Amino acid sequence: MPVPMYDHAATYRLLEAELSSAFTRVMARGKLDWGPEVPAFEREFAAWLGVREVIGTNSGTAALRIALRALGIGLGDEVITVPNSDISTTAAVHQVGAKAVWVDIDADTMNMAPGLVEAAITPRTKALLPVHMYGHPADMPELVRMADHYGLVVIEDACLALGATIEGRAAGQWGQVSCFSFAPSKHLGAYGSGGAVVTNDAELAEQMRRYAGYGQARERHYHEGPTSLPLEHHVEGFNERLDELHAALLRVKLPYLNSWLEARREHARHYHRAFANLPITCPLERPGCLHAYRNYVIRSDHRDALQRGVADAGIATGTPYAPPLHQQPVYQARGYAAGSFPVSEAASATLLSLPVAPELSASQRGLVIERVQQIVAALN
Ligand SMILES: *Cc1c(COP(=O)(O)O)cnc(C)c1O
Repeated sequence: MPVPMYDHAATYRLLEAELSSAFTRVMARGKLDWGPEVPAFEREFAAWLGVREVIGTNSGTAALRIALRALGIGLGDEVITVPNSDISTTAAVHQVGAKAVWVDIDADTMNMAPGLVEAAITPRTKALLPVHMYGHPADMPELVRMADHYGLVVIEDACLALGATIEGRAAGQWGQVSCFSFAPSKHLGAYGSGGAVVTNDAELAEQMRRYAGYGQARERHYHEGPTSLPLEHHVEGFNERLDELHAALLRVKLPYLNSWLEARREHARHYHRAFANLPITCPLERPGCLHAYRNYVIRSDHRDALQRGVADAGIATGTPYAPPLHQQPVYQARGYAAGSFPVSEAASATLLSLPVAPELSASQRGLVIERVQQIVAALN
């Protein structure tokens, strides 16, 4: 019995009738651009998340770029983020012309260490861009407090944390802007690429809508009737909108999201219990926080042997975002020696992500547990 990280086909089988009817609805309507599905999804997602404004984008990376541009962040500006995230977080900062300044992480949650942020702030710093790694929220109360003190904007990279909460407030509700990804392997996966930026600020939302869609207000495109409106470009926008078909497919999936989050947490509870007495580090859930478990990341000093051992039993695992960004060839010229971000480096050398997707069955989970227990016992 092989155990994959994800089984998108299984989810498709579950939802096939609903997905097919959403597909047919969009095709039969024939309105493939600027149709009603994107605004409808945005309203439904806003209600689910508890934010006022949602702008669908065609990826999480696009969401980050649109947020940064709409906030006026660009050449000469610095944005503080972490080196252990998806490269998109840092790349988006550079793609709008600003500079990403990395700070190391806390060892327990693997999220931005608030204690290191102050030393990284310069007169050029415009924003904090924390990432809720693997689904555990960053320390938002403290980061927001610091941002307020220094007059900085907070952008949440919540691409891994749909459904996470801190003090009962959702990841994605703490920053001026927050970014989500609907990549297939994320909590709410499209059948291709998708994302969203969210905010409670109506003016900023309008600006982000323009950046997502050629620099015009959406109503100018959405306009029905025989005569098109004259163009009215307010900014030099991107073309990075969510598309009608994906909005319709995501609308099918959204009502299942709570049960999928619960399934992830149920897998995590079983793993926690089974691994409690093993010499490995299980993911921490800080008091007051709810983990969204995009990844169930354990850490072991024998990571590579453990990974090989479970692979022999057909169990897929991952080492998400390792090695860290400062050790990637693309950032070699920045000249960071080994040891520059010691906590990120140590985490990336020891972490292992186990299957935790909702479609994982109890027997597959049992196999993962059994193999990890056996191999860890043999290695220690
Ligand atoms: C997935 C992800 C992104 C990028 O999202 P895409 O939809 O793949 O462009 C950015 N940041 C983090 C933390 C992510 O996990």
